[in-house]
Amino acid sequence: MAQILDGKAYADRMLDEVKAAVAARKNSGLRAPCLAVVLVGDDPASQVYVKGKIAACAKTGIESIEHRPAADVTQSELNLLIEGLNADPDVDGILVQLPLPKHLDSKAALHRINPAKDVDGFHPLNQGRLFEGLPGLRPCTPSACMRMLKFHGVEMAGKRAVVLGRSEIVGKPMALMLLEENATVTIAHSRTADLPAVCREADILVAAVGRPGLVEGSWIKPGAVVVDVGINRVTDLAFGERIFAADPVKLAKLREKGHVLCGDVRFGEAMQVAGAVTPVPGGVGPLTIAGLLRNTLKACEALVCPG
Ligand code: NDP
Repeated sequence: MAQILDGKAYADRMLDEVKAAVAARKNSGLRAPCLAVVLVGDDPASQVYVKGKIAACAKTGIESIEHRPAADVTQSELNLLIEGLNADPDVDGILVQLPLPKHLDSKAALHRINPAKDVDGFHPLNQGRLFEGLPGLRPCTPSACMRMLKFHGVEMAGKRAVVLGRSEIVGKPMALMLLEENATVTIAHSRTADLPAVCREADILVAAVGRPGLVEGSWIKPGAVVVDVGINRVTDLAFGERIFAADPVKLAKLREKGHVLCGDVRFGEAMQVAGAVTPVPGGVGPLTIAGLLRNTLKACEALVCPG
């Protein structure tokens, strides 16, 4: 059976480090870091994510401010809000929760954020720094995944890594970070031919697709390290019976509650083939929040050199 890479435990460790650093700042008379979260409208999933982020701030002593513009806020009103946060010396990090309502241009909003306060690492300047291998604020999910892999002693240099998914949030930055660690990286996507064969080449397989149970056990190279970034809600019992055939715990939950969270990888099947696997939930999800708080601390301590 594969080792379970416990993202929650590693995230707790990261949060403890942030908490200690915040306490040390306060003890030396400095103010706590402050994260401003902008949540436009009332999308239920976004509300849950923001709640989690604010609660994690509180746990570590990081201050947080929530801005809740109405769903019909205009682009120029949103821009003004961001400009105000950029100019506020007491705000270290700015996070605009995605997705934004359809009438708003997400990229335009993200590009407005001062790169030194861009704790999500989505500003082109921070993405460019990652591209050049320079330090900076890096996207939270892939950077926290990389930290966890290193913590667990996963060898990356010279290994074959396959990243499923090419989004700017996860897939592309993850591929760059693996490359930085001298892995030989393939990025696969919806147009990749013979995806199972490509995946089977991977010593490190990262799935960031958003398709429940896409990656079957037979797609995994024996002994591979599998990082499952996907978070999917499954409600269809017939479909669940298929993808959870080797995962009786998930299947029982689906039968009992009518819904269950799962990743892009068939966890039960992966456990029989892989060397190590991240579970969903409890894998990459908690790492993302820990990465965000770490970035907020970094921004506050101006450990980044934004340009
Ligand atoms: P996007 O929708 O932006 O990107 C998905 C990628 O997967 C695209 O590149 C797409 O290819 C590819 N893809 C879609 N279907 C297939 C398929 N059948 N075969 C191969 N590739 C496919 O998603 P994100 O990167 O934002 O997120 C991916 C998943 O990760 C989601 O489930 C999301 O909820 C989760 N997530 C989890 C986080 C966490 O904290 N754990 C944080 C962020 C995301 P193409 O480009 O060709 O369309």
